[in-house]
Amino acid sequence: MIDHTHNIAATSWVASAAGHPQFPVQNLPFGIFSSAQNPIPRIGVAIGDHILDLSAIADRLDNVAANILTQPTLNALLALPQSVRRALRHQLFALLTDATNQPNLAPYLHSASAAILHLPTRIGDYTDFYVGIHHASNVGKQFRPENPLLANYKHLPIGYHGRASSIRLSGEPVRRPNGQRKSPDGDFPLFGPSQRLDYELELGIWIGEGNALGQPIAIADAGRHIAGICLLNDWSARDLQAWEYQPLGPFLAKNFHTTISPWLVTSEALAPFMTAQPARPVGDPQPLPYLWDATDQAGGALGLVLEVCLTTANMRAAGVSPYRLSQGQASAMYWTIAQIVTHHASNGCNLNAGDLLGTGTISGPTPDSYGSLLELSHGGKTPLTLPSGEIRSFLENGDTISLHASAQRDGYATIGFGECQAVILPAAS
Ligand code: CA
Repeated sequence: MIDHTHNIAATSWVASAAGHPQFPVQNLPFGIFSSAQNPIPRIGVAIGDHILDLSAIADRLDNVAANILTQPTLNALLALPQSVRRALRHQLFALLTDATNQPNLAPYLHSASAAILHLPTRIGDYTDFYVGIHHASNVGKQFRPENPLLANYKHLPIGYHGRASSIRLSGEPVRRPNGQRKSPDGDFPLFGPSQRLDYELELGIWIGEGNALGQPIAIADAGRHIAGICLLNDWSARDLQAWEYQPLGPFLAKNFHTTISPWLVTSEALAPFMTAQPARPVGDPQPLPYLWDATDQAGGALGLVLEVCLTTANMRAAGVSPYRLSQGQASAMYWTIAQIVTHHASNGCNLNAGDLLGTGTISGPTPDSYGSLLELSHGGKTPLTLPSGEIRSFLENGDTISLHASAQRDGYATIGFGECQAVILPAAS
C-alpha cells in the first residue's frame, strides 16, 4: 500500500536524513538500542544518522499503548495487527517531517554511531528455507550433475528448523566451528576446525501477528503476518554438512552462528519496491492452490539489490576497501515470502510474533551474483584470486563478510537495511 509516507519529496527536520542512502524519512525501520547514558535496551527508529527513542516519547504516540513501546524487544509491537504499525508509521512520519516538533523531539534523538544495537526480538523460533533456485541448482549440480533439483523443489518451499539461540547481531565475531568431517582416506571422520567455512547471502522474514496452532494462513492473508525484512548470513561449514546431513538434514554445520542486520525494515516501507514474481519457466509445474494467489504473483517479489563484500585481515591492515564478491537481485527467489509463510503454517504449525524465517541463499543466474563461496569457487575447485593477490576457496580466519541490501525504484527514495557483517575468529582449541 503506497501512500504519502513514500513521497520522494518528503523531508525531515533531522538533517542527516536528507538523501540518506539507507534511512531517509521514507524508511523508518524499527530496532532495539541502548546508549551509554541509558543502558536499558529499548525501541528506536532509525532516521538518518540518528535513532529516535520511541520509549521516551511513548506517551505522545496515540496509536500504540505506551507499555508496548517501552518493551526491551519488538515482540509485543509485532504481535499487533499490521494496521496499528501502519498508523504508528504515519504518526512518526508526521512528527519527523513537521519541523515544529524539533524542539520537543530533538532531546530523544541519539547518534547511531554511539548507540549499541541489540537483537530486535526475542526470537522464539528460526526456520531456514531454500528458495534461491540458482543456489539450489548450483549446489545440486555439485552432487547430482544430471538431476540438480529434486522432484519436490518446484512444488513446495523446502525448509528446515534452525536454531534461534545462536542468532547474533551484525558485528559480533563468528567463532569457526569444530566438528566432524569425512576423512579423505575413507568413511571415517576427523574432528577439528571446519576447513570449508562459508557464508550464505539470505534475507530474514520477521513474523508479525502469529497464527493459532492448528490454523493455517491463507496465501491471500500471508502479507499481514509479515512485519518486515532484514539481512541474514547463514554461516555454513560445508565439510561438516557433507558428512552429517543425511538422512535428517542440516544440523551442527549450520547452527553455530547466524548473523542478522539490526533493523526491521517494515513491509509498509517496502511497499513501493514489491514487484511481480518472475514467471515460472515453461514446463514448471503449477503449484497447488493453497500456494497460489494472483495478487501475490503480481506484486509479492522483493525488488532489492543484494551485495556481498569480503575484507581479509591483510586488506584491513593495508587499508584496502572491501572486495565485492557478488551483486544480485532478491527476485531470484523461486517462491515469494508469502508462499514461504503460508507453506510453513499449512500443516497448522503456529508462527509467533518475532519469529525469524530465512529465505535460503539467494544466488542469481550468473557467477557475479552467486551468494556463497561454495558456488563462487565451485566447491573449492576454482579458487578466487582477490585483488590483494590472496586466494580463497572458503573463508580464512580474519576474513570479514558484509551483506548489504538496497531498495531502489525510479520516483522513490532509496532505502537500505544497515549492515550485516562479522569477522571469522579461529576455532576454540
Ligand atoms: Ca541457508
